[in-house]
Amino acid sequence: MSLPKRRRCVATFGAMLPVDELVRIATDLIAVRGDGQAHSVATVVQAADETVATGLDLFHFTGGPCAELTALANLASLTSSPARLIVAVGDHGCGVLAPCGRCRQVLLDAQPEVHVIREMGGDPLPIAECLPFSYRWNDHK
Ligand SMILES: [Zn+2]
Repeated sequence: MSLPKRRRCVATFGAMLPVDELVRIATDLIAVRGDGQAHSVATVVQAADETVATGLDLFHFTGGPCAELTALANLASLTSSPARLIVAVGDHGCGVLAPCGRCRQVLLDAQPEVHVIREMGGDPLPIAECLPFSYRWNDHK
């Protein structure tokens, strides 16, 4: 099992990574850092400038953030370049997970150009197609 070279939450690989590589990084991350309780999902997101960030969910009964949201926050700490591709992987062999409704809305509002890997082997979908007939928060600010 191998994580990005520096085993940090972020890295720049110098190129846009293929879908399979993003899935592998998320799979390896949840295998190493998942604990089956507070952290059961890992997300990898890559920006247009090739910056890569990861995130874990943080379960809490008050409503902790999903891994997609922590990955977006980590990406924002590194670059203002827009997110281009995101994937979440669950622990215990769950594989690729589609984002929940809250994350779909956040992705649509915060990163409207991002594409979502929502199943193994499937083509990434534009976030707008993952949330049809959506409320557009940016239209009402
Ligand atoms: Zn979510």
